[in-house]
Amino acid sequence: MEIKTVKFGGSSLCDAAHFRMVGDIIKSDPSRLFVVPSAPGKRSRDDVKITDMLYECYRLSREHAPDEAFDSVYEVICGRYRQIIEGLGLAYDISGELEYIKHAILHRAGRDYAASRGEYLSGIILAKFLGFDFVDAENVIFFGENGALDSERTVQELTAELKRHGEKGVVIPGFYGIMPNGTVKTFSRGGSDVTGSIVALASGSTLYENWTDVSGFMVADPRIVDNPRVIGRITYRELRELSYMGASVLHQDSIFPVRNAGIPINIKNTMRPEDPGTMIVADAPDYDSGRVITGIAGKKGFSVVTIGHDMMNSEIGFGRRVLEVFEEYGLSFEHLPSGIDTMSVVLSTPEFEKKRERVLASLGHMIHPDTLTVEDGLALIAVVGRGMVRAKGTAARVFGSVSDAGVNIKMIDQGSDELNIILGVEEADFEKAVKAIYYEFLPEG
Ligand code: ASP
Repeated sequence: MEIKTVKFGGSSLCDAAHFRMVGDIIKSDPSRLFVVPSAPGKRSRDDVKITDMLYECYRLSREHAPDEAFDSVYEVICGRYRQIIEGLGLAYDISGELEYIKHAILHRAGRDYAASRGEYLSGIILAKFLGFDFVDAENVIFFGENGALDSERTVQELTAELKRHGEKGVVIPGFYGIMPNGTVKTFSRGGSDVTGSIVALASGSTLYENWTDVSGFMVADPRIVDNPRVIGRITYRELRELSYMGASVLHQDSIFPVRNAGIPINIKNTMRPEDPGTMIVADAPDYDSGRVITGIAGKKGFSVVTIGHDMMNSEIGFGRRVLEVFEEYGLSFEHLPSGIDTMSVVLSTPEFEKKRERVLASLGHMIHPDTLTVEDGLALIAVVGRGMVRAKGTAARVFGSVSDAGVNIKMIDQGSDELNIILGVEEADFEKAVKAIYYEFLPEG
């Protein structure tokens, strides 16, 4: 039997009209039984998300700002929920909830509690609108003492709670849960995705639909390539590689609960429900077999520290000593390209910046290198695709296209699993290189 968990992002619930669309989507498929909403997001570019306004209310309350400053922001929040309720034609008086929350933020509740109320109120309204049961996340999503999700307890108690509701649909607000001491805690921003993933697991869903404002993951960043293709199917591993390199649609922690249970995630567009979206799966051996690459992502802002030392190749323990220096300063490295007598460490410039002088002094002192140079302004590009495995000539096509575009490649790294090729180029060449690779593999656009 098909059972679906459906999570709707803030842009899908920004006003009453969007709540209606969400209602239509849920009602059009009886297997959409478990619903996880975000807080209402922006209605237009310069609008403000409810979550951001709640953080602002908390800040104002703690800074002892004049009451009017708090009230003016809080009133906007109240107005948005009232408009949604009115637009949906619901006979529900939300005043009591709004008063209670205001009082709690002003008097005792923490920052996470304040932020979480966006999802909480969305959940109550959506449950009433759908005629579904409401299950408060603070009764079923548990964090441990260390602040990390207590998956075991959560899955156990959430499974039992969802069973109690049988065939009836359930709404569980995203983004928050409870600490052992009884205070509300949120995941990091965008964390309703994580709630959706846990609900999918605990409810035994066969599919986790994540509804947003785009029709799936794009092969490349649409700010760089015009109208890039949507990725039809992507594996969890490919997605990890692309997300790490900057492609963002899903919260990265949302992948693990469903991946381990083999539940696919379907990224769908609330405004275009007929679009198939992107399917994220454990394995996709035959799909898109003609397609060599799945996606291209990248980031600017990397530095390369290059250590030169004669006879480095035969000096056992050299690499370890170099890395120990970075470890000592709490710096994680991205890549380690090396030559015979040189070793380069690629790391994020903003992180390195704060410790640069100390790290270089320490390297000089511990390693006694013949040369020690730092180059900033590197951009990294990841070309990812399960289709690259054993496909001859892919690297040549990637490098050829970049060089034909007149871009110099400063670093190359390919994992032996052949799932990705990483290249480093100067930041000024980043966009040009991404475009060149995209059109090499998708010449038709
Ligand atoms: N509303 C929260 C945020 O803006 C969580 C979410 O939307 O997933 O980050």
